[in-house]
Amino acid sequence: MESRPVYCDVSLPVPLDQVFTYLLPETLRHRVQRGSRVLAPFGTRKLAGIVLRTHGELSESRPRELLRLLDEEPALDEELLKLGSWISHYYCVPLGEVLRAMTPLAGDLRRGKIFSLTKSGRDAARQLHLNDTDAQDPATEVLRMLDVRPLSASYLNKKVQKAAAVLRSLEKKGFVEVEDVAAERDPLRASAARLRAEFVRRPAAEKLPKAERELLSYLELHPGSHNVAELEESVAKASTAARALARRELIKLTLEAVAASQFPFRAPHELNPHQQAAYSGIEEALDAKQFQTFLLQGVTGSGKTEIYLKAIDTILARGGGALMLVPEIGLTPAVAGQFHHRFGERVAILHSGIHDSERTQEWRRIRSGQAQVVVATRSGVFAPVRNLGLIIVDEEHDQSYKQQETPRYHGRDVAIVRARDRGAVVVLGSATPSLESRYNADRGKYQLLRLPERVESRPMPVVEVIDTRQEFLETRKQATFSRALIDEVTNRLENGEQSMLLLNRRGFSSFMTCRACGERLECPNCSVTLTFHRRDRRMLCHYCNFSSRVPERCPKCDSDHIQFLGVGSERVEEELHGAFPRARIARIDRDTTGGKRDYEAILAKFRAREYDILVGTQMIAKGHDIPNVTLVGIVSADTGLGLQDFRAAERTFQLLTQAAGRAGRGTTPGIVLMQTINPDHYAIRFAAEQDYEKFYAKELEFRRVMHYPPFAALANVIVRGAREEEALAKSAALGRLLNPAGEGVKILGPAAASLARLKNEYRYQMLIKTSNRKRLNEIIGEVRRFAAAEKWSPTSLMIDVDPMTIL
Ligand code: ADP
Ligand code: ZN
Ligand code: ZN
Repeated sequence: MESRPVYCDVSLPVPLDQVFTYLLPETLRHRVQRGSRVLAPFGTRKLAGIVLRTHGELSESRPRELLRLLDEEPALDEELLKLGSWISHYYCVPLGEVLRAMTPLAGDLRRGKIFSLTKSGRDAARQLHLNDTDAQDPATEVLRMLDVRPLSASYLNKKVQKAAAVLRSLEKKGFVEVEDVAAERDPLRASAARLRAEFVRRPAAEKLPKAERELLSYLELHPGSHNVAELEESVAKASTAARALARRELIKLTLEAVAASQFPFRAPHELNPHQQAAYSGIEEALDAKQFQTFLLQGVTGSGKTEIYLKAIDTILARGGGALMLVPEIGLTPAVAGQFHHRFGERVAILHSGIHDSERTQEWRRIRSGQAQVVVATRSGVFAPVRNLGLIIVDEEHDQSYKQQETPRYHGRDVAIVRARDRGAVVVLGSATPSLESRYNADRGKYQLLRLPERVESRPMPVVEVIDTRQEFLETRKQATFSRALIDEVTNRLENGEQSMLLLNRRGFSSFMTCRACGERLECPNCSVTLTFHRRDRRMLCHYCNFSSRVPERCPKCDSDHIQFLGVGSERVEEELHGAFPRARIARIDRDTTGGKRDYEAILAKFRAREYDILVGTQMIAKGHDIPNVTLVGIVSADTGLGLQDFRAAERTFQLLTQAAGRAGRGTTPGIVLMQTINPDHYAIRFAAEQDYEKFYAKELEFRRVMHYPPFAALANVIVRGAREEEALAKSAALGRLLNPAGEGVKILGPAAASLARLKNEYRYQMLIKTSNRKRLNEIIGEVRRFAAAEKWSPTSLMIDVDPMTIL
């Protein structure tokens, strides 16, 4: 007889490159497997980790016993485990931290009472098993149930009579232990609008408070499920009462799918010839069932979404699943609604705004195969889609695909690796592809598909560049809006059309300076100036959220000649109110939108023409299709150009092109006015000409000469420390370790980072560049081993492979 595995190796979410071996309690020996999520003791803590292997090898040290199995089914299958190892290796991150980011089930771990068997409890349970007793008494029942898996108090209460008393006596006998940790979380935390309530049963005896009694009666009289927010209109305090009733299982609460009916139904369009040509390429690859990556480069308004939808139809018809990634800000109810209309309950939506319990629920629908289409932001790339045959990455150039904390993976690149491993098709879509992707297409790694025109031959918007220096010479006034921009907004207001004004900088004024001594007010924690926020009357740091009151005198020389410079979106809105007192104006930036819902609410009102003008940061530039917008004004095209970052030009070009693309999406042609002090800068010039090809050629040349991606693999290594000398000494040590770097490797630094101080830490930086990706990986390996040998704290070293920003 084959002996059962006795030990298991677990990957835990700790910054260490190792697995931890645990002893499997007897009851778990046949249930724990590779990919299982388990709870393990770690020091004084309990951590959820992923089992990598079970085995029977005797280990010399005496391993501790695993606490419990968290889900019966493995949380990660072989495919995802393999993807996890790839990420760990490629991005140089401990596997445990990667696997944690891949499992969305953290929401299950919540404080609450969980019962499990002790060793003697297991013995007792086995005795029952051996004797094959048929006894029906509650104590036996509880022992049997707990022998299968640990259970929550609420679950046992529901299943077993007098469970509480039974458990207490079992605990006294030493058969059962209670733990105050994990429990299945209920969907009760979702907002009322997202919940549906349905009657289950009347309480046995207990008396209910008035609101609960009323709601229960109402539900009993009105069978079927009801939206909880709507119930509020018939029953007072329905939302609170519903949650209370659900906790006692008198009613059932479920999460509502996104209400698709809010959005106009869009029938599928007949593909135009360009769309058809692009789609045919994708269809062929889907039929071949072979890994292939397409770059769908289509100008704004060329109908890329229609191709995505058609491709998803096709893969579904072939029995496969599809995953579509969208940028953080791109997953609006309008997008979700469109997918619901088309695919109904087969769609699951995952984004960072949803509650853990909703995420868990969606995840389970996906894993069970109920949902075959997943629309998700970055981390959705790990969704366990069955038979995954197609991955779409919309706006593939978008920065939000790169995770800005450990593990710092790029969602698009992970998507491609995942597809490669299982022979799926990838479609990357963008009007302004990243240099990397377009270069890959040119090298034949990806296949380029193009949509050169807008649908129905709608014209591209006309862009006019306004040189604000010239404007100043002519008017002798430093104005936020040029005369042309004022005229055009006036026209829109008269014609009942809408305008969007973009300024990618929030706040009122971006800095405060003293005219007497030149002092600029800086953040005490970061090396950046504080931004003046007028509504809050505060000086604010956009990096660490430090805030202080607005000084009346210069803190350095005590002069009162203080001035505020640099216009932000708050000021744009205020000046617009002054210039157009009758216009209805809304603003979208991080100050006006506390959460995703505010953002969506403002956008929905704008779409419904309840506002004439929408002001905002880059949050308004992306993907929104609002037909009545015929004017886009860029208040300052220059905001991103000054940054010491090799992607500054690319990002500016993308932002301006995307913003310009918002104009004239309907049948009325649109115009774009771009105000700038750098009219000759190629990023601005080519964005104005909406000429991606020219921009790409020029930028590619710059990258080639400077050895930046796509011509070199790049890693950003930052050493941080609360004390400057310490950060400096550590970075110098790394400098000595890596220099000389050897053939084909360039190391810039160590030097103070552009953001030399951030959140009270000093930052020193090294950039490693090489055209040899393997070598890059080895070098980072050396750095990490060195840091571990020197016992640096894990937070003092930040490594970013393929960084999107090197500030
Ligand atoms: P993109 O994502 O390329 O900017 P969209 O997919 O948002 O463009 O499409 C722009 C608009 O064109 C949408 O309103 C869409 O419904 C419409 N559209 C797409 N394909 C067609 C078509 N073949 N004929 C007519 N309209 C179309
Ligand atoms: Zn001063
Ligand atoms: Zn700060």
